[in-house]
Parts: sequence; structure tokens; C-alpha cells
Amino acid sequence: MVSSGAQQYIQGQRTWAVRAARLFDGHALRAGRPLVLIEDSRIAGVDMTGAVPSADLPVVDLGDATLLPGLIDSHVHLAFDPDDRSKQAMADEDDQATLSRMRAHAGQQLEAGVTTVRDLGDRHFLAASLRDRYAAGTETGPEIVAAGPPITRTRGHCWFLGGEADGIAALEAAVEERIARDVDVVKVMATGGVTTPGWGPHQSQYSRDELAAVTRAAHAHGKPVTAHAHGRQGMADAVAAGVDGLEHASFFTEDGVEPDWKIVAAAVEAGIFIGATEAWLPTGAMVAPHMAERVAQRAENFARMHREGARLVCCSDAGAGPRKPHGVLPYGVIHFGSLGLTSTEALASVTSLAAQACGLAERKGRIAVGYDADLIAVPGNPLQELERLLDVRTVIRAGRTFKGPEMKGERR
Ligand SMILES: [Zn+2]
Repeated sequence: MVSSGAQQYIQGQRTWAVRAARLFDGHALRAGRPLVLIEDSRIAGVDMTGAVPSADLPVVDLGDATLLPGLIDSHVHLAFDPDDRSKQAMADEDDQATLSRMRAHAGQQLEAGVTTVRDLGDRHFLAASLRDRYAAGTETGPEIVAAGPPITRTRGHCWFLGGEADGIAALEAAVEERIARDVDVVKVMATGGVTTPGWGPHQSQYSRDELAAVTRAAHAHGKPVTAHAHGRQGMADAVAAGVDGLEHASFFTEDGVEPDWKIVAAAVEAGIFIGATEAWLPTGAMVAPHMAERVAQRAENFARMHREGARLVCCSDAGAGPRKPHGVLPYGVIHFGSLGLTSTEALASVTSLAAQACGLAERKGRIAVGYDADLIAVPGNPLQELERLLDVRTVIRAGRTFKGPEMKGERR
């Protein structure tokens, strides 16, 4: 329902409000009848009494819905087609073809309620260029935090993205190149991966000294480093090298999964974010069928990491495989709820905590005055039933309605 003041909204008034039955502010469910005041792209007020400050103010009432901060997926690959199993053909692909796929995937993220994505691996810094177009407002899409091509060994994991570098001098030069291309974060492949033949996921691609050279060079420019690390040794070396984040944190060995809780304790001590790539569609095949057992063991490890105080961020690795389409993140939140995290903790891991992991804690991941007006709404109460997150009906991105039946035809 749109109030009578909506006419002014349609004519371009930049202040409006959205009201719902509940509000999750990024940390907790707040009682009351929330009304969120939006001015341009920012949140200008949060009133839990539901009082409308002025009769002229256009108010969209969402009824029995819960407002949440837009979801943040801290690990995606907009360039990856989830159904393309080899992905190596990308090495010869035209940039325009890659970009049009990235735009489509970015739209799928937004449709699912993911208003911020951290792209941890593209080609030719295309995610950064899409980031700038979205930020300029000439195109609509999620906020993008961009890493550029992940740094990897020659013919190492995801080499076809163009980030090959061997030895300390080349690694330092690779970081400098990324700084010059205005990345937000540096991604390094500390170990091999599941999807690129040649280096097994348990194998280290770099020494501790090489990883330390990457973090030193990035930190000198104030940029964080996150390390793809499936193997136990690679995890230990990345933590010792001072990375800011670990992706996957799988504790894979050649034969299985063997956690080392001393590494986790060191990561907790250092405040390292653990990117738990736990969002999957509930059915379908794994990229590598033999991985199913290992992935189940890894999930148990994540539950214990959480109990031991790790900053566990729920994310997807969207695009990596057929069970990881773009916008799959809500399935990860549901899964987190089954690992012993409370619903509040599971939701915080894709809002306020994910914002910290992405370096955006001052303007994303919360519904609070001064924060970006990236909001979503779902029917009912997702704190009681996380599955509600699969039914995102309203998406507001930077103060503009991207999705929502109440606002049909009234997008500014
Ligand atoms: Zn990835």
C-alpha cells in the first residue's frame, strides 16, 4: 500500500519511508513498529514507534514483513557461469562477453536480496569497472568490492584469470599492479583448488615468506588480503603471514580433513575473518563428487570454529559450480542455523559481520542512521524461520526500490 503522499515520491521527492512489522538491524531483532526514513541513498532515521513524522511523507507499508539490511556475500565470482565446469575458456574470451555475463549475475544477486558482493576473482579487473559504473548510478547493481584477478602460481588455481606470479619480486609487483588498478582487497591463492587441475587443494602454492611479501605490500597501501586456503599447511602459512581473511579454511590433507585447532586459535587471536563458503542449493551434484564427504566434515569444523570464537562469515563462492548460482547466499544462512549458530548469529554473519570482513562496517550491514539505504524485506519473521530469506519480496538499493510489488511502476 502506498500512502497518498506517494505522488510526491513519484515526482522525484527524495525523502520517503518504509514501514514493516519487525526489523533486524544487523545485530538483533528490534521490537516495535519500525519506520525507516530514507533520504537519497542513505538512512536518515529509524523510528520504532511507527510514527510518521509528517503527513506529506510518502510511506510504503510492507505489512507483516521483517526489514533487514541488504545481504552481503563476501565471496562471489560474477564472471563465473555456475554451469560451466571448466571455465578455462575464459582465458580467450572477449571482455564484452564476460561483462555481459557479470551484469546478469549481478542482477541475480540483487534479485535474491544480496545488495553487496565481494568479487574475489575476475579477469582484466572487470569487477572494478562494473563497481564504478554502479557507483556512478548509470547502471543499477549491487555494491561491488573488487579483488581483480587472484594472485596464483604459474598454471596454479584459476590461472586462466590472468593473475600468475611466482617468487617474491613478482608477487610484490602483482600487488602494486592491483593497487594501481584500484582494487579494494588483494586475493591470493595460498593453495590449489578443487576446480583447476594441476594443484591439489591440499597443496601449498606459496611459501610462508611469499605470502608475507603479499600481505606486507598490500598493507603498505592500506589494503586487506584474503587468502584462498583449502590445505592445512597453506592455512597455517597464511595466518602466520598476517592475512586479514581466509577463504574456505578447509583443513584438507591429501586424503581427507584434519583440523589443527592451534591454527584456528591463532586466527581468532589475530581477528582473521573466516569465509565459510557454505551456501549451496540443497540438491544437485558437487563439482567434484569425491568432495562431498570432505565438505560435510568441513561444515562440522566451521561449527567448532564458531564455538571457539572465530569470526565466521557465511558466503557462497557463487559461480563456482552448478549448486552455487548467483544469489544462493540465503541457503548458506539456513545452513549456518543448522550448525549450532543462533538465527541472530547466522543473519549477522551476512550483514554486520560480513560488512566488517569487506571493510564496509561504517556504512553497510546495519539499519542505522547514516548507513546506506540498502534494505530488504521478507514476509513473517526470519529469526523464527530462516527459510523466509528464500522469499525476499522487497529490495531497496542505495535508496531506490529495485524489487517490491508495492512500488511497481514507481521506480525513480
Ligand atoms: Zn572463489
